[in-house]
Order: sequence, then C-alpha cells, then structure tokens
Amino acid sequence: MAKDNLTAVLYGIEDMRLEQRPIPEISDNEVLLAMDCVSICGSDVHYLVNGRIGDFIVTKPMIIGHEAAGVVAKVGAKVKHLKVGDRCAIEPGVPCYICDFCKGGSYNLCPEMKFCATPPYDGNLTRYYKHAADFCFKLPDHVTMEEGALLEPLSVGVHACRRAGVGLGSNVLILGAGPIGLVTLLVAQSMGASKIMITDLVQQRLDVAKELGATHTLLMKRDDIPEEVAKQVESLMGVQPDKTIECCGAETTTRLGIFATRSGGCCVIVGMGAPEVKVPLINALAREVDIRGVFRYCNDYSAALALVASGRVNVKRLVTHHFDITETDKAFETARKGLGGAIKVMIHVQPKDTNN
Ligand code: NAD
Ligand code: ZN
Repeated sequence: MAKDNLTAVLYGIEDMRLEQRPIPEISDNEVLLAMDCVSICGSDVHYLVNGRIGDFIVTKPMIIGHEAAGVVAKVGAKVKHLKVGDRCAIEPGVPCYICDFCKGGSYNLCPEMKFCATPPYDGNLTRYYKHAADFCFKLPDHVTMEEGALLEPLSVGVHACRRAGVGLGSNVLILGAGPIGLVTLLVAQSMGASKIMITDLVQQRLDVAKELGATHTLLMKRDDIPEEVAKQVESLMGVQPDKTIECCGAETTTRLGIFATRSGGCCVIVGMGAPEVKVPLINALAREVDIRGVFRYCNDYSAALALVASGRVNVKRLVTHHFDITETDKAFETARKGLGGAIKVMIHVQPKDTNN
C-alpha cells in the first residue's frame, strides 16, 4: 500500500495545512478506506473562519471533512458486510452504542458521539481513513462516489422531512436554498409533497431550486418583516404551508417559519444561528404549531441511499465545483465566498470518476 497519506489538517483560524499523516491502524470492527471524494460543508468553512461552532472549539489540529465516500482498503477481523474494494458512503458520526439514547434508537443525541471534523475528532479529508464498519454504506455500482459523499447532506434533508412529517399532499415551505434547503426540497418531493415553496436572499439559488422542481420560489430581503412575508407565502402558494423547514438559521426566517405555518402544522428548525433567537412563541402556542429541532440524522442514511439509487432524487446538480485535495485552499475559498455560484464544492482525493 502506498505510504502517501496526504491529509488536510485545520490547525486553527485561517490555518489549514496539507501534511503527511501515518496510515491509521484498524481495529476488529473497523475498515480502512482509501478516500475518494469529500464535499465541503458550511460547518467546515465555519471552523476554518471562526475556529469554533458554539462549544465545539478547535483547540488542537483537526483533520477536516465529513461528507465523504471511499473504497475499502482493509477489513477488520469481525467485519462481515464489507470486503476490500467495496465503494462506500461514510456516515460520519459514530455513537457509543450503550447509552440510553443509543439504546433507544436516537443515536444522534448520544453525548459520546464521535463525529468527523467536530472537535476534538478528526475528519476524513485524507487519503487513508479508518471508520466503524457499521457506519459505512456499500454503494450499488451505478451510484457514483460523489453521490455517496452527498448522502451526508441528503440525510439531513431526510431527517428534517421525517421530523416534519412530510407526506402525500403536504404543502411545504422551505426557508433557505443553500445545500440543505435544496436537499430538503428533493426529499420533500420524493415523499409526495404537493406544493413546495422555497425562499432565499439570492435569486441564483432560487433558480436552481426551480430547476430542481420547487413549485414556488420567493426572493426575500434581509429586512423583510416576517408577518408580511407570511401573508405573501399564503397568497403565492394559495394555502398556508402545513410543514415549514427552516434551513437558514436567521432570526427573521425562524420568525417567518412560525408565522407562515398553518395552525396545527409543524415548523422544523434545521438552521443553526445565534444560540438565542426571539420567536413568536405565543402565536405558535395559540395555533398549536409544533416547533421541532433537527440534529443531523439518525437511521436516515439507508433511506437517502435508496432515494439516490432508485433515481428518485438527483443530487448531482448540487455539485458546482471540483478540486483536487492538493487544491484544498482554493476549494475552501470557493465554498466560503460562494464564488461562481458555488453550491457544493467537491474535493477529490482520487482523480474524479476513478472509482465510478
Ligand atoms: P448556506 O449558508 O449555504 O445556506 C443558507 C441559505 O439561506 C443561503 O442560500 C442564504 O442566502 C439563505 N439565507 C440566509 N439568511 C437568510 C434570510 N434572512 N432570509 C432568507 N434567506 C436567507 O447553508 P447550508 O449548508 O444550506 O445549511 C443551512 C443551515 O443548516 C445552516 O445554518 C447550517 O448550520 C444548518 N445545518 C444544520 C444541521 C443540523 O443538524 N441541524 C445540519 C446541517 C446544516
Ligand atoms: Zn450513546
């Protein structure tokens, strides 16, 4: 096996370095993966720019990256479902398996969660990476490695739509047409939503949403008044949405989400903004609008994979830029500034399409 294990390591604010790291040794329940591609998430950029997200602080060098796919290069002694050469999507969070949350099936809430590129745990923008085998999902031959990497954000969309209870005939309002808003749109469609409106501050992103099948789009301005936009949403959609999924993290959109949701409906919060936000709680209470949180995903990877494998969801349109791992700085610059209408920026550890 090659000794080259070029790795993208975040040392601190504005300090990303490419360096050689030892190839990890695996334990019995792990696999070693020859990484193929890793897409950049807003949180990766946030750690680069701010060195922290809330209480998660980069205090020592951390390998970046968590939206990834790789090829099995070595298999631990107890691993039964994977073999060398299998192409896999990697679910990046490995929980403790034994706490109440894990036992109860809500492993995303496990306090001992080890999540790639969430300090202090290393991510997988590296040539060789080891991972718990049961969090590696073998890809069917016709699913590309890039699609495999995108199962990560897609799983957030699946979890959000499940938490909202999106189903046949739902009228869905999605706030934010970034990658998360867009995957949520794709999932809501596949779950049978009838009308789907998506809002953003950027027309270009709404154009992509339209292309992906949003039935309605609404261009917002930063100083819009939520109550007024809520009325606009209703008149444009012809109904009040019964499911709203907030994917911006802004106070305005969180307020809008509550005002816009039909009485008895559900407003799901995915966007992570300021730790405290002013929301019209009494309005929600008096109209029995449920406000629900979303934290990553839990048992959603298989559904995300099934959506892609069946062709019901096409995530390829989200990838706007490609870089080699040696161009990691340029890739982050593109993602960070949204250069050239960037939505998803893909970093290739192997030359593009090597493993497709
Ligand atoms: P993004 O920044 O690329 O997209 C956010 C979109 O919202 C942008 O297109 C932006 O123009 C739009 N926007 C921002 N402020 C707005 C406003 N006031 N009105 C209307 N539109 C506005 O981010 P993303 O990668 O798509 O992620 C979306 C959010 O979801 C982020 O806050 C991220 O932290 C969060 N997130 C949460 C989870 C979770 O587990 N809860 C997982 C992944 C991402
Ligand atoms: Zn646990």
